[in-house]
Amino acid sequence: MEIEELIRETKVYNCVECGECTANCPVSWFETDYSPRAIAKRALEGLIDAREEKIWSCMSCEICSDRCPSAVDYPKFIWGLRAEALKSGIAEEAYVNELEQLFLNGERDGDIGIVREMTAGKMSIAGQDGGIVTSLLTAGMEKGLFESAIVVHRADGFKAKAITTEDVEDIIKAKGSKYQFAPTVERMVEAVLEGGKKKIAIVALPCSIYGIRRIQKAHPEVELYSIGLFCFENFYYEVLKPLVSELLGVDLGLADKIDVKKGKFVVDIEGESKVCAVGEIDKAVRASCVFCTDFTARLADISVGSVGSPDGFSTVITRSTKGEELFGLLKGEEKGLETTSVDHDEIAKLVSLKRKRGVEELEKLKI
Ligand code: SF4
Ligand code: SF4
Ligand code: SF4
Repeated sequence: MEIEELIRETKVYNCVECGECTANCPVSWFETDYSPRAIAKRALEGLIDAREEKIWSCMSCEICSDRCPSAVDYPKFIWGLRAEALKSGIAEEAYVNELEQLFLNGERDGDIGIVREMTAGKMSIAGQDGGIVTSLLTAGMEKGLFESAIVVHRADGFKAKAITTEDVEDIIKAKGSKYQFAPTVERMVEAVLEGGKKKIAIVALPCSIYGIRRIQKAHPEVELYSIGLFCFENFYYEVLKPLVSELLGVDLGLADKIDVKKGKFVVDIEGESKVCAVGEIDKAVRASCVFCTDFTARLADISVGSVGSPDGFSTVITRSTKGEELFGLLKGEEKGLETTSVDHDEIAKLVSLKRKRGVEELEKLKI
């Protein structure tokens, strides 16, 4: 694909330089020299190529394309430039490694990234699997490690909504995976810039953790505890809801829980589990997810997910001293943490599958 073709396919030529993208981009709010509007303009002037370092700032949140009045698919445009960069030997790895060195410390595992401790854990509190994320947040808040937490609630049925809260009850209400992207980084930036918050915990997807680390690199004064969730892909609610109704005959908005496990998409509703193959809901997958290669949230202080653990447990990977400090709050006999071993190979398999898909999809975009 020629760069002109990439510009055409992603409708960058439609750009009217309104600046909505830059005004709403959470990365631009902190990395003030990063501007999707300016990059689109320079692309139209023939001044952009894959050596442009700023193409690595984007965290694929798709806020810019949601707000663009001209339907410019800026995230896909960036993925196209990244594909070209990879072809020229400029790898995302270099940017990830730099952030790992800045924020993490532990042993390197070739599949999983930096690891201090990896275990399967379970708390008595209800959650998606082992109740670990809810327990980490409530324990950290009660201990005063952070004053606010950014979590994702259900709103309008099963639609994901990112909120900032200081209330433990709100944290408990956020339990359970939504399998949708929610603008957690936008909430975090607001909490810092508008709310004057200094100490924050955030639960976020691997792509958002990447953005958070870029922001922290530019602003080390932002004190964060980041909990990254394992993520293979996520879905557009507006597409998923009618699809679930068609395939499973149920209203996703009324579901008690949704889960993706071992190739199945499962909706728990009114005491029953409705199941279809995850491949059947492919058309609801977020556009950016097919290019993404991070399954285990490699840059988080703690990564949590169900893969690699027995039913009812969550895999917990601590990657930094902050992560270790937070997970330490759940340890000790009276805290009720049960642990067992993790199946490393099961995680490695998903890491490799996701990486393979990302690389193949990027190959198709090479200009
Ligand atoms: S929002 Fe769309 S039209 Fe406006 S500057 Fe950004 S890319 Fe261009
Ligand atoms: S996808 Fe998100 S991070 Fe990337 S330019 Fe758009 S708003 Fe900014
Ligand atoms: S697959 Fe990647 S881009 Fe998609 S939501 Fe998960 S971490 Fe983000």
